[in-house]
Amino acid sequence: MNAEILAVGTELLLGNILNTNARYLSERLPEAGINVYYQSVCGDNPQRLKETLSLALSRSDMVITTGGLGPTYDDLTKETVAEALGLRLVLHEPSLRLIEQYMASLGREMTPIQRKQAMQPEGATVFRNDWGTAPACAVEARGKVVILLPGPPREMEPLFEHCVLPWLAKFSEGVLLSHTVHIFGVGEAEVEERLSHLLRDSVNPTVAPYAKQGEVQLRVSAKAGTREAAEALIAPAIEAVRAELGDHVYGIDVGSLQAAVVALLRERGLKLATAESCTAGLLSKRITEIPGASEVFECGVTSYANRIKHELLGVSEQTLREFGAVSEPVACQMAEGVRRLAGADIGVGITGLAGPGGGSTEKPVGLVYVALSTAGGTEAKRLMLARVNPDRENIRYLASSNALDMVRR
Ligand code: ATP
Ligand code: MG
Repeated sequence: MNAEILAVGTELLLGNILNTNARYLSERLPEAGINVYYQSVCGDNPQRLKETLSLALSRSDMVITTGGLGPTYDDLTKETVAEALGLRLVLHEPSLRLIEQYMASLGREMTPIQRKQAMQPEGATVFRNDWGTAPACAVEARGKVVILLPGPPREMEPLFEHCVLPWLAKFSEGVLLSHTVHIFGVGEAEVEERLSHLLRDSVNPTVAPYAKQGEVQLRVSAKAGTREAAEALIAPAIEAVRAELGDHVYGIDVGSLQAAVVALLRERGLKLATAESCTAGLLSKRITEIPGASEVFECGVTSYANRIKHELLGVSEQTLREFGAVSEPVACQMAEGVRRLAGADIGVGITGLAGPGGGSTEKPVGLVYVALSTAGGTEAKRLMLARVNPDRENIRYLASSNALDMVRR
């Protein structure tokens, strides 16, 4: 079965919001064995919505809409879908009672306009919305399936997960399962070369690489009758990647380098502190983006000026004079200093030249030192980060990524 996602909302066309619903649904539908062939976007305009919907119905077995299920005048998706399929809207009593209860819990009375939300296309399967007021529904008519979901992602996503996905099982001829292998420290070209047989020859599972700023992700997808059978197809492919790339693989489905680091530190009960010069807090920002970071992250010092490196972190003035702020001994002393200051298990120091100005032949833009201090000692890495892209933001981002990579090892 193939599907089309139709996101409804003028704010999407105006660029006010990103169409994250389409991304979410495109990512999740293959799990139900449903392939997404088209995505479309339409404003809250009845005529254009009608046209877009009829095009979608002409070329796709299933159309999944998001948005326009609310009570206001510009919420027209349900009406338009019912009309396109030649169905009446009828009052759905259980939904009406739920909306009544919900309003009562807010100490308010139901307005006639909210009654509109309880109207559903005749014969529809209604999905109760425990995360908002507008119920979702699925309609089967004229050989097509149309699923209507509300616009707000915090309602749409759990409705899809808990109601729609189980309902879709009846159409599935199998499961398409994917896992993402996260790789750091080898470029895309090298990954493709070292895994060429796996990338070229595999049919089920398929293995597809994606390059992301300084990282490579491999999406390994398999189709099978059951989830277990799909897992069994995927496992050997992931093993083959691990065998070739070793500890460049930093996790499976872990989301990001910082998420992997936070999970690892939590698992081991270790605390981290950072001292950043050229990245000025980017590393601590990325770590604290992860829920639960407070269990492992003690403090981050942005020590841009040499005086702060010395006074706060205890970097020796002589070292600063002799080697310069961008040097291995300074990175090491920053890492040791912040570990001491925070009483942490691990201290990280970063110092470098992010450019665009300020480089020299001896110390070019993109030169970064990252140091890691633990009870066992201090180690540092010299990085040249301007090779592929000398952009300031890119250098700073890669510096923080390399620091995360050092912590996880
Ligand atoms: P409501 O009851 O909130 O009106 P609705 O189902 O009518 O819900 P819309 O009015 O179309 O949905 O959108 C409500 C909000 O949901 C939007 O302002 C936007 O924040 C979010 N939203 C809608 N569509 C999308 C989308 N495709 N991707 C991400 N967010 C969206
Ligand atoms: Mg609305």
